[in-house]
Amino acid sequence: MFKKILIANRGEIALRIQRACRELGIATVAVHSTADADAMHVRFADESVCIGPPAARDSYLNMQAILSAAEITGAEAIHPGYGFLSENADFAEMVEAHGLAFIGPEPSHIRMMGDKIAAKTAMESLGVPLVPGSPGELKNIEEARIVAARVQYPVLIKAAAGGGGRGMKVAQTEDDLEEAWQVARTEARTAFGNDAVYLEKYLDKPRHIELQVMADAHGNVVHFGERDCSLQRRHQKLLEEAGSPVLSAAERDALGEVVTKGLSKLGYRNAGTLEFLYQDGQFSFIEMNTRLQVEHPVTEMVCGVDLVREQIRIAAGERLGYTQEDVTFSGHAIECRITAEDPDTFVPNPGLITAYHAPGGLGVRVDSAIYAGYKVPPYYDSMIAKLIVHAPTREGAINRLRRALDEFAVVGVKTTLPLHRRIVDAPEFQSGNYTIHWLEEFVAKGQE
Ligand code: ADP
Repeated sequence: MFKKILIANRGEIALRIQRACRELGIATVAVHSTADADAMHVRFADESVCIGPPAARDSYLNMQAILSAAEITGAEAIHPGYGFLSENADFAEMVEAHGLAFIGPEPSHIRMMGDKIAAKTAMESLGVPLVPGSPGELKNIEEARIVAARVQYPVLIKAAAGGGGRGMKVAQTEDDLEEAWQVARTEARTAFGNDAVYLEKYLDKPRHIELQVMADAHGNVVHFGERDCSLQRRHQKLLEEAGSPVLSAAERDALGEVVTKGLSKLGYRNAGTLEFLYQDGQFSFIEMNTRLQVEHPVTEMVCGVDLVREQIRIAAGERLGYTQEDVTFSGHAIECRITAEDPDTFVPNPGLITAYHAPGGLGVRVDSAIYAGYKVPPYYDSMIAKLIVHAPTREGAINRLRRALDEFAVVGVKTTLPLHRRIVDAPEFQSGNYTIHWLEEFVAKGQE
């Protein structure tokens, strides 16, 4: 096992990874920008190295600086967390070329899944069902017209290099197609430096259901069940549940079997998440994330597993040591992503937190790196806390979530706590009967 790990991230996820390291008896190295010198992840680490100025491209995305920090401190492995360099195949390669372990998949698999077209092609060959659409990159608008007519409108033009819900445009009819094609390509070029786009049928009432997998370097693959992430705004997740309120155990098992067999054939290693749209009892693959997800805690709560610990063990060459039959699911978990944003307009609201009280009690977990007196910097993602609750039933989890949200106090910056309180009380949420479009409408109604 490793003696020392460098964590190439900040905020709650850097702390989350430190916790797993500490329980494994592994020393931790934090890296930070000058803006984060006082951050919790720096204070709690065994060692820390300043890697540059506030802008992420000069610090948390600065591969050379991070590798130097690993070398100076004698770290043996790097955990990238999520975001930043976590899905950068070049970085993973550089880490390995420096004789360090990258706590994640093989660079070739990161590269493959980072190109959504390549990912879909690979999944299709492994027997995983896809959303109907273009067989690959769209060569021109004429091809887009032909494919759209075949799969039928509405359709979605998506960036091959897409992420974070960007580079995605809907065409309701043929009249919108050319504009959607142009806008998606421009957005993709600006955001990702790659204007390759593809086309998918736009599903009108799907749920977003994803499957958590874990694979060791010895060919063993298991899944830890599904997460339902249908509560989204602008294609970004706000609240996630495990398990899904609409999925049966038989459906989960069937999907899990196809996926674990496929990934075993691919020789995939470490953590991964396959994202699907689920509509009319059908799963359609949309993308695979080759990293730890923001919403991983809901899976940990229902499976009683520490996913970061598993990632570290696997990167150190250890075997899973259990099989699919050993993975069991207990109760229901819900996570709310709390951001420092105006709850109506979603405009980021960084600044000084003057008072802070986190909820507690049975079945309540808060993953956060903020405290009273902390200044939320304007340079990074605005998520400041994740509230996770677990209870034997979904109804129990909802009641627990309501009371935990009531206890939660963050003063000094605007947060999305009021929106989460409204969601918990909405009959559509309580019934579990919602699609990926529901939250957007719910938010719009609240703004009227
Ligand atoms: P990103 O990598 O930018 O997150 P995804 O492909 O994962 O992009 O899609 C993000 C979200 O966009 C999905 O969770 C879903 O809400 C919506 N979406 C993606 N593809 C489709 C589709 N074919 N039909 C309807 N909604 C879609």
